[in-house]
Amino acid sequence: MPGFELFGEQEKKEVQDVLDSGVLMRYGFDNMRNGHWKTKELEAAITRRMQTKHAQLLSSGTAALTVALASAGIGAGDEVIIPTFTFVASFESILAIGAVPILVDINDTLTLDPVAVKQAITKNTKVVMPVHMCGSMADLLALKTICDEHGLLLLEDACQAIGASYEGKPVGSYGDLGCFSFDAVKTITCGEGGALITNNKKYYINADHYSDHGHDHVGKDRGAEGHPFLGYNYRISELNAAVGLAQFKRLDEFLSIQEHNYSILRNALEPIEGLVFRKVPAGGIENYSFLSFFLPDEEKAKVAQIALTEAGIDGCFYWYDNNWHYYRKWEHLINRDSLGKLPNEVIKQLPDFKKADFSKSDYWVGRNISCLIKLSWSEAEVNERAGKMVVVLNKIL
Ligand SMILES: *Cc1c(COP(=O)(O)O)cnc(C)c1O
Repeated sequence: MPGFELFGEQEKKEVQDVLDSGVLMRYGFDNMRNGHWKTKELEAAITRRMQTKHAQLLSSGTAALTVALASAGIGAGDEVIIPTFTFVASFESILAIGAVPILVDINDTLTLDPVAVKQAITKNTKVVMPVHMCGSMADLLALKTICDEHGLLLLEDACQAIGASYEGKPVGSYGDLGCFSFDAVKTITCGEGGALITNNKKYYINADHYSDHGHDHVGKDRGAEGHPFLGYNYRISELNAAVGLAQFKRLDEFLSIQEHNYSILRNALEPIEGLVFRKVPAGGIENYSFLSFFLPDEEKAKVAQIALTEAGIDGCFYWYDNNWHYYRKWEHLINRDSLGKLPNEVIKQLPDFKKADFSKSDYWVGRNISCLIKLSWSEAEVNERAGKMVVVLNKIL
């Protein structure tokens, strides 16, 4: 997955353009910037590749999720449905605006289970936020149908699945809003950065203003710009955008390398009896950043993960025991350990996750191993890796 593996002259050139002008801000300084608008250029490239009308670059993927929610008018007391298997950024972005994260089970897609989503809807529900974990996607058609039925917003967290597609559409572009992360370990990196995409002009304009202290960006005098509503600072810098601009141009090259490496591993593992691969919804094409599979039970999955690591196969994750990606280890959320007082709405409406039954999620995540697909492997390295994995897994199964 990580774009930092293939980093070079193009990234340096884009950054040098910014350093030469000295304009590190995405807005203004028109006369000083030698015609360089790295953020705007990257936003234009994202809208083209993702087939959406609008893109707004932001300081992180978490910022993108926060701004996406805010741009659609989500606020205190609104409930947002998220999966039990995700990254902490999902609930962080929701809590940041005073809204309430509602955890919901996942299924064999390793993403939101539409049946569980339906059961979790209340009169306060406003958003369904599927998280396309590990390079594949949620059953977007089923989720969209539910959202349409109940008048809910569909916000796709595509931070780990950039370049994947569903029914011919890039993931992130299927829902009302979609978000990407360009942090240091993602497929495309800006160092730190993120983006939201949408076809909704109002959400886009709201996002543009909200992420820059409410500036309406009318006229040429920043000090005289209007502030139609309260905002915050989630801006990206030109330096970060410059790195991302070089990286984003290579997205399809990165995807084809990932697909090649993934296919070698997958073909080798496919004949192993007892190994089941993660389900990709009909109409979906992964971005091939991870190869995810299920062992027959939790015990075997734990043994397999240790055995793979001991055999020198790095980058195979057992998310069930991970502190950042699965609800079981989110004691800070479960115990409501907040530095300051939480909003009353959150205190009242946040479910008691100590009492929650997520055994359906446990069933899938407890048996899952996800192996990172790297860009920098040589052909010989992937083949060697495939051979070793087959030996290790065959011994266990
Ligand atoms: C990385 C990630 C984020 C957050 O992105 P940052 O840029 O690190 O803030 C959000 N959701 C998922 C699924 C991620 O993997």
